[in-house]
Amino acid sequence: MTDIIIGIDLGTTNSEVALYENGKVTVIEGEGGKIMPSFAGIDENGALLVGVAARNQYVVYPERTVKSIKRRMGEDVRIALGEQSYSPQEISAILLKQLKAAAEKYVGAPVNKAVITVPAYFSDAQRLATREAGEIAGLEVVKMINEPTAAALVYESGHQGSRKVLVYDLGGGTFDVSVVAIEDDVIEVISSHGNNHLGGDDFDLKLVEHLCDYLRLEHGVEALPPQAMARIERAAETAKKILSDHPFAMVEEEYLLEKDGMPLHLKVEIARHNYEEMIESYIDDTMEAVHQALSDAGLAASDMDEVLLVGGSTRTPLVRERLEMDFGMTPRGEVDPDLCVASGAALQAALINGSRIQSVLVDVTPYTFGTSALGELDGEFTPYLFVPLIKKNTPVPVSKSEVFYTAVHDQEAVDILVCQGEDPDARNNIEIGSFLVRGLSRVPAGNEIIACFSLDTDGILHVSAREKATGLEKSITIENAMARFEENELAKARNKVRRLFGEAGDTAADDAGPEAGKAEPDAVVQARLLIEKAEKLLDAAEEDDRLEMIELIEAMQDGLAAGDIAELVEPMDELSEIIFYLES
Ligand code: AMP
Repeated sequence: MTDIIIGIDLGTTNSEVALYENGKVTVIEGEGGKIMPSFAGIDENGALLVGVAARNQYVVYPERTVKSIKRRMGEDVRIALGEQSYSPQEISAILLKQLKAAAEKYVGAPVNKAVITVPAYFSDAQRLATREAGEIAGLEVVKMINEPTAAALVYESGHQGSRKVLVYDLGGGTFDVSVVAIEDDVIEVISSHGNNHLGGDDFDLKLVEHLCDYLRLEHGVEALPPQAMARIERAAETAKKILSDHPFAMVEEEYLLEKDGMPLHLKVEIARHNYEEMIESYIDDTMEAVHQALSDAGLAASDMDEVLLVGGSTRTPLVRERLEMDFGMTPRGEVDPDLCVASGAALQAALINGSRIQSVLVDVTPYTFGTSALGELDGEFTPYLFVPLIKKNTPVPVSKSEVFYTAVHDQEAVDILVCQGEDPDARNNIEIGSFLVRGLSRVPAGNEIIACFSLDTDGILHVSAREKATGLEKSITIENAMARFEENELAKARNKVRRLFGEAGDTAADDAGPEAGKAEPDAVVQARLLIEKAEKLLDAAEEDDRLEMIELIEAMQDGLAAGDIAELVEPMDELSEIIFYLES
């Protein structure tokens, strides 16, 4: 029988341990879950704390707690912890021992061997210190592999031939980017760049600053007591994570502190676009490093076959957008970015043990789901811009929401189209559902509507649209959203969508039945409603307004007759503005 070899990602902020068994990788749960904070401490009674407990203690007793020890590996220093001092290897060994214990509990047998990952830039001294840490923890380090190599193993182990991938790794406190070359089974890091002091913690700090500014400006709070500050820090990280999937995050902290003898409750909403402005310069820095790594490797973005996402902070949509923009492809992040490196270490361990590894499968959606909106496509204004909410290869279950804005004043309805496909022009994708939300508030254009797409592992897609100001909501459920469309089904569906937009379909491909062609596009419905309303108001309008309204109605009628929706947009906008002021 072969020895058990575990795979360990010994990270700056968090560490994980994984094992390859029965053809798949299991990331092992310790006391606080799969992700163990890389913190060690001594409590007031002299007992050792590791992981979550040590991280919790750090907030109140930083002097008795050590974090980010990875940054000191290879240095000849002593770290004070309680009454004693320790080398960085000894502190790292404490973390490794905890992971080893979790693995032993999981397998029910002693575990003495490990593959440990290290950053590609680690020097010999840092690698040696890591090996020593393993030995102190009672682990024979059978191999140390680079973190980007581990990530490449996870994604690329099934491929033959030669490939080049970029591994973008943004964690809590560090950022690394590597260009990796793969020749059959040999994986080699050809260049590496990064910033040892940049990560999600910096994003949290920006939000903390924002919340402190709010407390100062709105409530006159100049300084926060430590406990309130700790709550703000936790709330900031939670809000950051919500903003990865939703356009707004509400920060609510009851009784945050006492001000002038009164309890102060914090309640403030943060919009994703404001948050993105706060962190934009950090993302710029990472992209600069990406291009530096490419140039060090003598390669261009177009030479890359794939971009792989590693590290919890790569869930930030702005990171993915920027990479997609520069590389012209969707970066891959379907393997949990927090667990990817540990999974790769476990695969390496399995290879050493002679296993024939299969790729690490996770449930992902093979299709992109989204809706359509007014926007710019190829430099032209169009009502058919496809806005993806759930992108293909996203692990399921998943829930994503996005904010949309009404286009005209007094808009009382929105039509939500649910499409499957990749084309930026929604007309070329497949419509799998649609619904109308009626009864919206009578407000100027720009009324916020939040569309939420939730997809589960059974392929059931739930889509809802909510008027943010009032909570008015409608939804639909599509049972088999992940079903594969046959080619003729596809053509039929395309036709159906074209008709929805008021265009002629290809009749040869179409036998969609009596329902086909009856529905009208949102813009057409809106235009008709608007004309109806304007005609009712004509008599009451002043002469100037009346003439302008008649002109606009005629322009819209021309647009409707020609089936040219783009022609409708401007007169609709102007007419709705006049109506809005006539009514208010
Ligand atoms: P790692 O060191 O790879 O475990 O990454 C930890 C960092 O990822 C922390 O800063 C987390 O706050 C951050 N993180 C985890 N989940 C998310 C998320 N959903 N969106 C943005 N950042 C996240």
